[in-house]
Amino acid sequence: MSCDHPHGKPVTVMKFSETGEVIVDNEEIDRIFNNPEIEDRKIVILSLIGAFRGGKSFLLNYCLRFLYANYSSINKPKEGMPYFFHKNENWMGSCDEPLKGFSWRSGIDRDTIGIILWNDVFLHTLDYSGEKLAIVIMDTQGLFDNNSSPTENSRIFALSNLISSVQVLNLANRIQEDQLQHLQFATEYTQFTVIDSIEANEKPFQNLMFLVRDWNNVEDYEFGKDGGMKYFQEEVLVIDSQREELNSVRESITNSFDQFACCLLPHPGKVVAGSKNYDGRWSAMDEEFKDELQSLIECLLLPQNLIVKKINSMDVNVREMRQYIQNYFRLFQS
Ligand code: GDP
Ligand code: MG
Repeated sequence: MSCDHPHGKPVTVMKFSETGEVIVDNEEIDRIFNNPEIEDRKIVILSLIGAFRGGKSFLLNYCLRFLYANYSSINKPKEGMPYFFHKNENWMGSCDEPLKGFSWRSGIDRDTIGIILWNDVFLHTLDYSGEKLAIVIMDTQGLFDNNSSPTENSRIFALSNLISSVQVLNLANRIQEDQLQHLQFATEYTQFTVIDSIEANEKPFQNLMFLVRDWNNVEDYEFGKDGGMKYFQEEVLVIDSQREELNSVRESITNSFDQFACCLLPHPGKVVAGSKNYDGRWSAMDEEFKDELQSLIECLLLPQNLIVKKINSMDVNVREMRQYIQNYFRLFQS
């Protein structure tokens, strides 16, 4: 699907070469982060990761719709922005509007593994503290793909975990053991690589949301975050004293992230899931999916739910984050 958007575009800031080396585009990183208008703002970075064709970019493009409808951005300043946030109830736009933003559905070579940023940054001032925030959106490509090597998977997973304040792990149908193992490898890889920059008693990663798409056990656990959290606690986090190796996976994950969430989304309907000519309009979504999608995005992006990036317990601003990102990339290059 075409990604021409009037206010921004996706830029690949990190990818792997054919021989597996990390290639970083520092110019693009500077173009986004090295900006006096935002340098002192605290940074919020939302990232999505998961297998190819899992609906990640599709979801991020609806996130962009929410952000453009509700916040000012570097490329699209809002005149006379009210200090107090008023949610635009019609942020989903008109029902037949084609979906734009990150390339979704096709177009990008599935062999490209990398980290992609939206090159427009959203701005918000918290009304209760006056704190100024900058919101950055990150897409990733190639995880759990048969074409990508386990090291590449671990590196991309680790890097995007390190950079984001909220990482959404996009999964189909349910949370599976092998996906938890991927998460554990990434965690160990990070601890091995950036151990010096993380203080001993700190967890290296911040917030992780397991996002289960096409959930079809609604009789056991209802859609949304409450059902998701129950599912996560009752079925995923359970410790089985008979199986040591499964417990160590769980321990390693819970020791690495500050907080967890889980959200269950319904199947979006035949057109969204399968139609070749589908352009992303929401009129083609099943009603229930549309409602849950809307709630999820609000839960991630309403001002009271934004999560500022912390490193070693300290809030990080845009200037510092640029430095961290470039350092992390450098560490992963060697
Ligand atoms: P990505 O590779 O993970 O970024 O996936 P895309 O965003 O490019 O979407 C791949 C396909 O999945 C598109 O045809 C979407 O219409 C479709 N899709 C989007 N959301 C869902 C969902 O929740 N379930 C299913 N089954 N398909 C979805
Ligand atoms: Mg994608």
